[in-house]
Amino acid sequence: MKILPVLTGIALCCSVDAVATEQDSKFSTFPTYNGSDLELNVDNSGTHWRLWSPEAEEVELLLYPTGRNSAPTKTISMSRSDNGTWTASSPEKLYGQFYTFRVKHNGKWLSETPGVWAKAVGINGERAAIIDFSETNPDGWASDKGPSIRNINDAVIYEMHHRDFSVHPSSGISNKGKFLAMTEDGTTNPTGESTGLDHLKDLGVTHIHILPSYDYNSVDETNLPANQYNWGYDPLNYNSPEGSYSTNPSDPATRVREMKEMIKTLHDNGIGVIMDVVYNHTADNDNSNFSLTAPGYYYRHRPDGSYSDASGCGNETASDRQQMRDFIVNSVKYWAKEYHIDGFRFDLMAIHDTETMNEVASALKEINPDIFIYGEGWTAGDSPLPVERRALKENVAKMPQIAVFSDDIRDAIKGHYSDAADRGFATGKEGLEETVKIGIVAATPHPQIDYSKGNNSKFPYAAAPTQIINYVSCHDDLMLTDKLRKSMPDATDKERQRAARLAQTIVFTSQGTPFMFTGEEIFRDKKGVHNSYKSPDSINAIDWNLRHQNAEQYEYYKQLIKFRKNHPAFRMTTAEDVAKHLKFDKTEPGLISYSLIDHANGDEFKEIKLIFNGSDNVREVKVAKGEWIIIAEDGRMNADGLGSTKGGRLSIAPRSAMILGREK
Ligand code: CA
Repeated sequence: MKILPVLTGIALCCSVDAVATEQDSKFSTFPTYNGSDLELNVDNSGTHWRLWSPEAEEVELLLYPTGRNSAPTKTISMSRSDNGTWTASSPEKLYGQFYTFRVKHNGKWLSETPGVWAKAVGINGERAAIIDFSETNPDGWASDKGPSIRNINDAVIYEMHHRDFSVHPSSGISNKGKFLAMTEDGTTNPTGESTGLDHLKDLGVTHIHILPSYDYNSVDETNLPANQYNWGYDPLNYNSPEGSYSTNPSDPATRVREMKEMIKTLHDNGIGVIMDVVYNHTADNDNSNFSLTAPGYYYRHRPDGSYSDASGCGNETASDRQQMRDFIVNSVKYWAKEYHIDGFRFDLMAIHDTETMNEVASALKEINPDIFIYGEGWTAGDSPLPVERRALKENVAKMPQIAVFSDDIRDAIKGHYSDAADRGFATGKEGLEETVKIGIVAATPHPQIDYSKGNNSKFPYAAAPTQIINYVSCHDDLMLTDKLRKSMPDATDKERQRAARLAQTIVFTSQGTPFMFTGEEIFRDKKGVHNSYKSPDSINAIDWNLRHQNAEQYEYYKQLIKFRKNHPAFRMTTAEDVAKHLKFDKTEPGLISYSLIDHANGDEFKEIKLIFNGSDNVREVKVAKGEWIIIAEDGRMNADGLGSTKGGRLSIAPRSAMILGREK
């Protein structure tokens, strides 16, 4: 199973005919069940099961002593119950045992399945496990809480994969590729610079966004020494952690406990955890847990009955059907409550409908108002779901508590994602200035922006800057270092690092929420591989020696993050404030400059002036006379100031940002 590189800009004109299929009308008559006791519930009266399978003719529950390779100790025939469910009970607490369900459908027994709600599973997620969750909690878990943030754009997001981050020998981390890697402090590379948790704290990011960490399909948990690698966009059991990130995947409680320990340690160090969730498709079609419990129901189909495929991975789920919608909402609620997750990133979010996403947001905000939600506001293929119902970036204004990735700023800064050689504003291509400006104002309405000149979007789709995630690089496609190497083939790495600094300076000072990909701060690469979803560690692992070799690059990123965090002017929360307090100067090819004025959003600076020179030449800019503090200049940055200037005609070095601030 692979995830395709994301496609963007799905046209608003081309949904397939949205006539409901015969199956759609059938499924809409199914009773649904939204109780929290679905599938397994252990209490003082024993162990209870309740499987939702409205069309089943018979359902069996099979009990096992182990997670695999053993015969059932007992087979229980389940009884038809309310709302399409089937139930069974045992008077004892059967902790330590495993179970599967078997459904008879159209006269045929389907393969066994752990169900769709297994909260703990045995190795490779084949069987569900009965464990006592109260014994999986780290010390102090009851009072554990992630960082408080008032608005999503107070966050600085760092996207990472567990193996990328810790598996290289230079990480100095013991639990390589594991959840527990994040629980180790004091780790260093061979030259003594911090790695792991200490590195994140020093860098100053507020949240890590972990690539899929639910139980996925591709890595064989029975053969961990093989060191298989996968991003994990091939969901198997949505409500249990992935086994290969635990130290013992055959013990169902270990993965739960170790993931919680990771989260607890990060929280204790002031860092939040965002989970990448992939409810839009499953690894398998007819043999997925969805198909084996309620065949057909959870997926969308084409009129000919085949699986529709907006995910580009073989199927797409049907969030517009009640039981699937409830599944998504209850699943994120579960992760928020049981694991204290601080945010969710929805993969190919536009496969889901806006109503589901709004329910997700309000359910999560009820649990913890600091939880935030963002996603990819596009699909990877067409869907039977009508365009106006899709959670597209173009529809984000209909989802006030959701944010979407800005492909506008991404492609305009560094060049188009699908054309390796294409350059962007930060690498000297002219004509992208208006699209960069759309990114700077977080796609909100602004009197000085002509949206008809936007490359990816032709209208201000965001209702507020809190609805936009800004980035130039993520796990998908060429990461920034590789993109710069391919698009600036004749440059030196030093020159490319200048371009990276300019690119990230634009991202981190724009309205909206900044997002970066792991290791960019030390100029790591992925050896030019654009889709490394199953590439070996030799491609994906971060070489922490780069922290030493690229120390100046690291220092720049650190100062950039510090500067952003110190200045609320970069974190305005309403479109009106942005229109009022962000004033562009006259844009020239290769040059964008603007001011954040009148103590924007309560900033201590009366005015912050930002000038971005993407060209190869020194550019002159006239700045109002005043007592300016220089924050960034010629590829250097210090959040507390590099020096001062009186303004007037200033020279901006090629491919660099100048940032000035004045208090009066
Ligand atoms: Ca797995």
